[in-house]
Amino acid sequence: MTSPANLNLFLRQLPKAELHLHLEGMLSPTRVISLAKKYSVSLDSDELASRYNLRGFTQFLELYKWATSFLREPEDYAQLAQDAATALHEQGVVYAEITLSVGVMLLRKQNVAENFHALKKVFTRNFTASPPSENGPQVQFIFDAVRQFGPTPAMEVARIAAELKNQGVVAFGLGGDELSVPLSNFRPIYKFAAGHGLHLLVHAGETGGPEQIQDAIDILGAERIGHGIAAIRSSTLITTLANRKIPLEICPTSNLRTNALSIQLNSAHSKLAHHPLPKFFRQGVPVTISTDDPAMFNTTLLEEYSAALQMGLSFEDLLVMNRTAFEHSFLPEPARQSFLSQLQSFAAPT
Ligand SMILES: [Zn+2]
Repeated sequence: MTSPANLNLFLRQLPKAELHLHLEGMLSPTRVISLAKKYSVSLDSDELASRYNLRGFTQFLELYKWATSFLREPEDYAQLAQDAATALHEQGVVYAEITLSVGVMLLRKQNVAENFHALKKVFTRNFTASPPSENGPQVQFIFDAVRQFGPTPAMEVARIAAELKNQGVVAFGLGGDELSVPLSNFRPIYKFAAGHGLHLLVHAGETGGPEQIQDAIDILGAERIGHGIAAIRSSTLITTLANRKIPLEICPTSNLRTNALSIQLNSAHSKLAHHPLPKFFRQGVPVTISTDDPAMFNTTLLEEYSAALQMGLSFEDLLVMNRTAFEHSFLPEPARQSFLSQLQSFAAPT
C-alpha cells in the first residue's frame, strides 16, 4: 500500500499544467508588506490579517483592489513574477497560463507594455535557468479586462493584447463582477480579439447563474470557462459543455473562500464535499484544476488536488484532469504533444 507521503510525492513530481491563475492573486502578505515599506505606507498587522481572512466575494474584490494598489511600477511586477515562478516550480507546474489584470493597470494609468516586459523577463529567466531540473514553468499570458469597468476600457485591454500577441499573450479574458454589465455589451470586443488571433476566455457561472455560461459560449465564443460551477443548476448546460468539449477551469478553495459555492448551492453551509467537480467530471465535462488566487485564498495547486481527492475523485481521475489541462491549453502543437508524451510515463499509484 502506498503511503500518503509517497502519494504527495507522486503528485508533486507529476508535470502539471495550471490554466486559471492570476498573477496579482499571488500577492502574499509578505510581498504586500515589502511593497508597502518601499512606498512608505504604514501597515497595521491586524488590518493585513483581517483583509486576508476572506468571508465572501465582495470582500475578495476589496482585497484584490487593495493589495494590487501596491503594484506601482514594472519592478514591482517583476518581483511578484519571481514569487510566482518560484511557487509554481515548487508545486511541479511545468506550464502555466497566467492572467494579468490589465484592466486594473489601465485604471491606474500604468504603462502595460513596460509592466509586461518586466514580468515576462523574469519568467523567461526562470524557464531557461540551469540545471533544467530547477527550471521555472513555461508561461503564456492572458490579458484580462474587468467586467464592472464596462466595454470601453475592455476594448483598450483587447487592443494592447493584440499588439503583444507575438510576445507571449495568447488570450483575452474577462473577470470581475458577473452581476454588473451584461456579457452582450462585450460582443464587439470579443469579435475584435478573435479577429486578431487571440483565444477567448470568460469568468462565468462563478457567482452568476448558468445563463452567464451560456452567454459566454453563445455570444462571446468563450473557448474555456473560468469557474462555471453554476452549470450544476442546468442539466442542459452540462450536456452542452460535455458535447462541445468546453472545459471548466475549477478552483475549489476559491469557490469556498468567495462563498461562490454557497451561492450556487443555495446553502450557507457548503463544504468541499458538496462541490460539483465530481459530477461534472463523471458527466463528461472537461474539467481542469487551478488555484485562481493562491496567496489570497491561502492554497496551492497540490492542496487543490488533495481537495479533489477529498471529494471522492481518484488519482487516475486527477491524471485525466491534468491531461485535460494540457489538451485544452493554448500551447502550439509540437509543445503540447511533447508535454502530453511526458505524461505517459506517469501511472497512478495503487
Ligand atoms: Zn479567476
